[in-house]
Amino acid sequence: MPELSIDGRKVNVPEGTTVIEAAEQLGIFVPRYCYHPGLSTAGNCRMCMVDVENSPKPQIACNLPATEGMVVETESEQARKDRAAVLEFLLANHPLDCPVCDQAGECDLQNYYMSFGLYDPRFGEQKVKKQKAIEVGPHVMLDQERCILCSRCVRFTDEITKTGEFGIFNRGDRAEVGLYPGETLDNPYSANVVDLCPVGALTERSFRFKARVWYLSSTESVCGGCSRGCNTELHHVSNRPHLNDGERLLRVKPRHNPDVNQWWMCDEGRYGHDWIDVDRLGEVRRRTDEASRRQVESTWEAALDGVGTALSAGGARVGVIASAELTNEDLFCLREVLGAHLGARIALPPAPAGGTSDDFLIRPDKTPNRKGATLLGIPDAATPSAEALVDAAIAGELDVLWVFGHDLVELVGAEKTRAAAVGECLLVYSGTNDHATVSLAHWVLPSAAAVEQDGTFVNCDGRVQRVGRALAPYGDSRENRRFLLEIAARTGTPAREDWNGPAGVFATMAEAVGSFAGMSYESIGDQGAHSAPSEALAEAEQS
Ligand code: SF4
Ligand code: SF4
Repeated sequence: MPELSIDGRKVNVPEGTTVIEAAEQLGIFVPRYCYHPGLSTAGNCRMCMVDVENSPKPQIACNLPATEGMVVETESEQARKDRAAVLEFLLANHPLDCPVCDQAGECDLQNYYMSFGLYDPRFGEQKVKKQKAIEVGPHVMLDQERCILCSRCVRFTDEITKTGEFGIFNRGDRAEVGLYPGETLDNPYSANVVDLCPVGALTERSFRFKARVWYLSSTESVCGGCSRGCNTELHHVSNRPHLNDGERLLRVKPRHNPDVNQWWMCDEGRYGHDWIDVDRLGEVRRRTDEASRRQVESTWEAALDGVGTALSAGGARVGVIASAELTNEDLFCLREVLGAHLGARIALPPAPAGGTSDDFLIRPDKTPNRKGATLLGIPDAATPSAEALVDAAIAGELDVLWVFGHDLVELVGAEKTRAAAVGECLLVYSGTNDHATVSLAHWVLPSAAAVEQDGTFVNCDGRVQRVGRALAPYGDSRENRRFLLEIAARTGTPAREDWNGPAGVFATMAEAVGSFAGMSYESIGDQGAHSAPSEALAEAEQS
């Protein structure tokens, strides 16, 4: 554990630590372009130069091992002059098109110029022209003039995806980043190069010219695209939808979590959120005519009264098809209100076979909370499958069948779905988007999406993680938890008042379910926490 001094402060670091990492331990930020903790060290941008006692020349902090007794200055006059000189060199050929650059406002060239540059330009010659607006892949646009040749994108495709699409070609001021002949940047993680690019050379095609970044609000959350649960930041303009034709979620960025996704996320998760504003269920509907199965708009009061009455009729036989897209808090309320107190049999359809996966992040189960459902005992061993519940509804053995999120046509086929909808059984549907089952239901209760509510998921490794509410629920939709509690009130089911918020439900869940014991909504924090191994989980894993 060598001890060194940085800007007059002592720090002990493990052998092999570099000076830039040691400075970070002290909270001292050394500016950088090419250095990234998730990639190999390139040492080519020279932006992180620091003064080291007894060294005749400045040193790059990213590639300098910390040694015993080393004395480093990051803010000496010489270090500041060195940084300003590097910036002047990088900006000599830069097009300075910040007013039309999507990166403006979060660009390290802009930010560092304001912090460390502030020189009067001396470069009066013609700038080198390069290609702009090159579509290098389905998600990414390249502007070669803005590139500062840090090589982060090249190292990402070499070291992380190992697909090697990018290279740096030519020499001197003609050097430029680009694709190898015949290549397209279309690997499953391609858009991470945009996050890595410290300037506006690589930008997202889907975000191009949509918003200035200073109008965006940010919410920490978790991707629901598969059971990995990559940590994310949701960037949205919920207070300014008129700026973006009503589109509310403008982009998704990975959030660093060393135990889950490091710095990365896949393109499918990043761009798989169109459904949040397309084909959404925004109003309560009820069936008015049994013969034609016509539906009309209704109210929450009428729906909750109607469904509540059917559920509380003496000896009502209830079946529930739950979804692994629901949060733990929704599933717990469902289990307590419909299962424990109304005796509902709760099924959970298995993950469809054939989901894509790899040996990095992407998991074959495209639902975010199957493990959470398992920890909550959904489905339990005695519960029939979703198909068995539909069969029971057709045979007149159920009075209410409540489906969460699933399209029954996909689960059991169109014929059985129609048969279940025309029988005596009341078909209730709760979910976010329109599909075939919706139009067959007696009651349609629109649900808020995961980005429209707070709660928790448990990822494939058993890590409990918080999802964050970025947007208001779409139209008249509500959190499942909220309308389940209203059903509880109408059916005389005991439910605690503090269940109105996710923290209150979580607290009860932690008391009732061993795997969540000792945890609280607050203690999970922004990086998640491991649930305790449970028998239910072990059994599910074995099967
Ligand atoms: S495109 Fe961006 S990440 Fe790639 S070398 Fe240029 S500046 Fe670096
Ligand atoms: S790997 Fe899964 S959780 Fe991660 S971003 Fe992709 S879809 Fe989302």
